[in-house]
Amino acid sequence: MRDPSTIHDEERTVTQKANFINGAWVNGDATLANLNPADPQDVIGQYACASEAQMRQAVEAARAAAPAWERSTTQSRSDILFRAANEILARKEELGALVSREAGKTQAEGLGEVVRAGQIFQFFAGEAVRYGGENLPSVRPDIGVQISRHPVGVVSMITPWNFPIAIPAWKIAPALAFGNTLVLKPSEHTPGVAWELFNILERAGLPPGVANLVNGEGAAAGRALLEGVDAVSFTGSVATGRKIAAAASERMIRVQLEMGGKNPLVVLDDADLDVAVECALNGAFYSAGQRCTASSRLIVADGIHDRFVEALAGRMRKLGVGDPRDPATQIGPVINAQQLEKILGYIELGRSEGATVAEGGKRADASTTGHFLRPTLFTDSSNAMRINREEIFGPVAAVIRVSGYDEALQVANDTPFGLSSGICTTSHKHANHFRLNVRSGLTMVNLPTAGLDYHVPFGGTKASSFGPREQGRYAVDFYTSTKTAYIGY
Ligand code: NAD
Repeated sequence: MRDPSTIHDEERTVTQKANFINGAWVNGDATLANLNPADPQDVIGQYACASEAQMRQAVEAARAAAPAWERSTTQSRSDILFRAANEILARKEELGALVSREAGKTQAEGLGEVVRAGQIFQFFAGEAVRYGGENLPSVRPDIGVQISRHPVGVVSMITPWNFPIAIPAWKIAPALAFGNTLVLKPSEHTPGVAWELFNILERAGLPPGVANLVNGEGAAAGRALLEGVDAVSFTGSVATGRKIAAAASERMIRVQLEMGGKNPLVVLDDADLDVAVECALNGAFYSAGQRCTASSRLIVADGIHDRFVEALAGRMRKLGVGDPRDPATQIGPVINAQQLEKILGYIELGRSEGATVAEGGKRADASTTGHFLRPTLFTDSSNAMRINREEIFGPVAAVIRVSGYDEALQVANDTPFGLSSGICTTSHKHANHFRLNVRSGLTMVNLPTAGLDYHVPFGGTKASSFGPREQGRYAVDFYTSTKTAYIGY
């Protein structure tokens, strides 16, 4: 079994799926294999791995294309984005199946992600003709102030594997809408659907050099894609985000980082038990817990604790874990063998820290080579344990018992992260207080901490996010700069 991150020098092959640089499909001198995590013998394709020199060429192509793209009409940009949206949505079943095959999501999750990508392109096709500046009166007499928005220039985008089309879409669509050119480096674990997206963009009529695709491993991208660009938008782990932030600050370029989470779901005594269990089940375990918004900390009040744990563990036992091609599957595999080992290591760590495995805690089916893990629930855990402080990024959640709302809020906020949060309660007072006082960029009342709309801002606080928000109208703040003109009458 091969690790999908391995770059195979020996696999110089004409069948490789090429990089897209300056409007041409360009082979690399190595390939990376895209493997199905449910069945690693299933090779989805060999993808050209861009050399550092090719990555730099992609940046140069984006630079050369920038002036004409900036001057292009907003109508022509909007038309291209709508055409891309139409093709994404017309092919949603096929692309959804590809997302499922390369990222291990269920068929429904794969389809949902593709639809979301199409909707994002539709949204920004509209924004392309709607966005603008502002006129304000000066505080001085006979002067007007005009604030206009301008593209930032060339943007590098580096993305993870757990949303292989939605995350590229929510970076590419606003970048293009607002007149920027770009280079995307998708995750080496899921190059497939990003490759399809660039075929779609080409067919939609994007001029050469405006959007470039380079596959490859991260370190090379870190060196090549931060030189000669005006901004970098990154989604991935905190460890990588730190490196990118350091390099970006060295070069004084604009940076946007979306990173990990350790998201709390608070369950109060007065919660509707069925709602709370559903929120925990979905938020902690769907997509095999591989969501930055996953509720990995379940902060449960004393009065409902035992009923909640019993009901949640009962539902977990019935979850279908397996190959996403099976329609009965609710939880697919984790992304690769390395991640499976890492998660199993955290489960051992939790045990050694004194937490109890109330459910799961082991591989789902040791007879397959797929990376399947039973959803795992810890009880008797404290917020100080490493299993509650570090992002595990798998189907693992830990229950932290608290006396009531005040302690729940304090524990929810006691984390280095601040992406999403949730509360299950029938108390309007507590729901409202939580919404205002929990330190996270997203918060949910009686809803799972994951599961988001495409047209509203997305992002967090503390180590989860850095820089302006993604998605919705707020994306304009990253992808444009304002210019303030004072006009004397
Ligand atoms: P990762 O940091 O390992 O990789 C992300 C991307 O960065 C990949 O394309 C990788 O090749 C690249 N990379 C790696 N090292 C690099 C370097 N030195 N310089 C430049 N690029 C480099 O993350 P991952 O394992 O792919 O994704 C999982 C992580 O992503 C989790 O922490 C998850 O919470 C986070 N995530 C966050 C959001 C969000 O919006 N907040 C969304 C999805 C995933």
